[in-house]
Parts: sequence; structure tokens; C-alpha cells
Amino acid sequence: MCKNKIQFQPGLSLQSFLSQFGTEDQCRNALVRWRWPQGFVCPSCGHTKYCLLKTRDLFQCNRCRTQISITAGTIFASTKLSLTTWFLSIYLITQSKVSVSALSLKRTIGVSYNTALLIKHKIQQVMKERDDSKPLDAAYIQVDDAYWGGKKRNGKRGRGATGKIPFVAAVSIGDKGRPLAIRFSQVSAFSKKSIKAWADKHLAPKRNVAPMASNASLLLKSVVMNILQ
Ligand SMILES: [Zn+2]
Repeated sequence: MCKNKIQFQPGLSLQSFLSQFGTEDQCRNALVRWRWPQGFVCPSCGHTKYCLLKTRDLFQCNRCRTQISITAGTIFASTKLSLTTWFLSIYLITQSKVSVSALSLKRTIGVSYNTALLIKHKIQQVMKERDDSKPLDAAYIQVDDAYWGGKKRNGKRGRGATGKIPFVAAVSIGDKGRPLAIRFSQVSAFSKKSIKAWADKHLAPKRNVAPMASNASLLLKSVVMNILQ
């Protein structure tokens, strides 16, 4: 396999991930920061003053009293799992250069097999290819590689015993470094030729494309933000 810039970029180390997202408070704060980068805005009336109902993890608007759960509208919402479990699962799945099975997820994060399957399925829903016809278009696009195990869409197993399918993950970045869109695309291999064919199809011409190294937690953020939309 040829060495290429995309595959050999540094990822977010587990140590660095844990120092940023290792506690429930850190994950909650990140979620709040990503959801309201300019500070809280009430979705009902636009007011920016709130009080935090700490015991129930709710923001309450000071004007209209609307209550907003921090995880409302996310895949986190309907489960009783901690945010640290979700963040770690997203980290493991998006940062791994090999496919992560539900069984290894179960062992690593310490949940039941059924829970691991549910987590993987929900994250997979977010990572599914979206509207593929429109190329990503922004001043900056950052790319990373990933593998996804399991069945191909036509129902046949992926190649090899483990069924690894190579993916390219691309995030378009808007002003202030905010992720605008995320795209996971299946490629035939991580070869120069197939990456170029992928770029021709999925990226608007003459864009600045960089490996995701400059902000390695971006992929994690993108998956979480996509969940929020
Ligand atoms: Zn309000």
C-alpha cells in the first residue's frame, strides 16, 4: 500500500481525547459549546438569558420558560447511556484505521453486546452517505480515512474475512472553523487514483484540501454536530 498524506496523518491520540472528553462535564460542555457557539439562544423566542436546571440537565429560558434538554435532537436523547460512552464510541469508530466491531466496542467501553450494536447502528446512520450529488463546497475541506466493517450495500460481504470497506471522511469548514457538512464516501482503495476520482466527484474544483491533522477532534465534532441537525 502506498503511503499517502491522508492515511499517514496524525490522529487524535486516546490520551488527548480523554483529557478533552474524559468526563461527563467535559462532554456536556463541548455539546453546549458546539450547539451554541455564541452562547445560549432560546429556540422558541430567541432570548439569550437562561437558567440551568442542573439535576435534570435542562436549560430554561428566562423569558418564555421553555425547557431545552442538552441532548434534545441528538442520537444521545433516547438512550440512558452517558455522554462519555457516546463520545468514546464515536472516537473509537471515527479514529480507528481498522473497522471496529460491535464485539470489540462492547469490550472496550464496557456495555452489553446489544447496547454496542445499538450504538454502532446509530452512529452508522449519521455516517451514511448523504446527498451525494452535490460536491462539498467551502473555503476549506479536511479529509481523513476510515474503514467500515460489515455488509456492503448490495448485501454482499465486503472484501476479506473482516469485510473492511475503505471510506474517505471529508468535512467542509466554514467561517470560524465550524463544520458545515460531513461526507463519508466509499472508495475502492486508498490509492492515488481512487482518491483523485473521489475528489473529482465530491469536491468543488480548486478548494483547499488539507488532512484533518490541524484539528484532530474535528471529525468527532462533525459527527456530533451532524447528529444535532
Ligand atoms: Zn424563550
